[in-house]
Amino acid sequence: MKRVVVVGSANADLVVEVPRRPGGGETLIGSELRTLPGGKGANQAAAAARAGADTSFVGCVGKDGNGALLRGQLLAAGVDVTSLEEVDAATGTAIILLTPDGENSIVVSPGANSAFDRAAAERLAPVWRSAAVVVLSLEIPHETAFHVAASAAASGSRVLLNAAPAIAVRREVLQCCDPLVVNEHEAREVLGAAENDPDASDYARLARRLLLAGARSVVVTLGADGAIVAEGPAAAPELVSVPAYRVEAVDTTGAGDAFVGAAAAELARGCSLLDAVRFATAVSAVSVQRVGAQSSYASRAEVEAFIS
Ligand code: ADP
Repeated sequence: MKRVVVVGSANADLVVEVPRRPGGGETLIGSELRTLPGGKGANQAAAAARAGADTSFVGCVGKDGNGALLRGQLLAAGVDVTSLEEVDAATGTAIILLTPDGENSIVVSPGANSAFDRAAAERLAPVWRSAAVVVLSLEIPHETAFHVAASAAASGSRVLLNAAPAIAVRREVLQCCDPLVVNEHEAREVLGAAENDPDASDYARLARRLLLAGARSVVVTLGADGAIVAEGPAAAPELVSVPAYRVEAVDTTGAGDAFVGAAAAELARGCSLLDAVRFATAVSAVSVQRVGAQSSYASRAEVEAFIS
């Protein structure tokens, strides 16, 4: 079977519910601590494997309990973790304060993810260079991600770049992306579009501008409003809007990662980008109806039952 290789981050999410955000110098008592598997890369790999793809994860964790937790969760999702390296740094950690206003506050300590430098990527190159689809996101050092994007595209792999957390991305990197997957905010950041840009809320135009900026194809995800797919020549692109399913969202954590992993799984099966996005839309719709990120990702059978 054609393989998906996710090159990216793995984080332990330390989640505490608090009545409100603490102010400077203030101490609050929160709920019991929950430690959940997370990190964009690990989430995307879990989603791709749950969607039925032969999936490998390439990245770094520390030699600690959180690293063991992440490895175990990836294995349980069916991900090959033989290229998950252990380094002398703490496993990446996200400290997440859940507040009743729903505006969660998050601090990420990249830890072991920062150790995934170009040399580490090159050591593991035989794994990602042989992939049908290479999935990248930006919680690892950016130069590593951009190096893998260029090298994987040159070796004939299809590169899906999820430009998150968002930064401005150079043309030569965008030219490797087929597709570039971004949410509304990331679409603006990748283009370096200012707040007062006339297209700031016109996502079809932003998608087209991302094609003009070099991306081979573009998917802009719009939360409960679905996604826009843009492909074809930048001068006359084909733009299709894929609506989201109307569901009762309980927890949207990791919905974007579910979408990316599921889309990669479908692309590796040889589906068109539009069909991959339709399937990913169903996978993420199931995921938002469940609590958590990786724990909310549906199997292929569950998604097919949901669609029918
Ligand atoms: P991110 O988490 O990266 O910001 P989005 O919020 O755009 O990503 O969500 C990714 C996809 O998940 C959307 O394109 C949509 O298909 C699905 N999704 C997200 N929120 C909802 C929701 N409330 N109802 C249904 N589907 C949703």
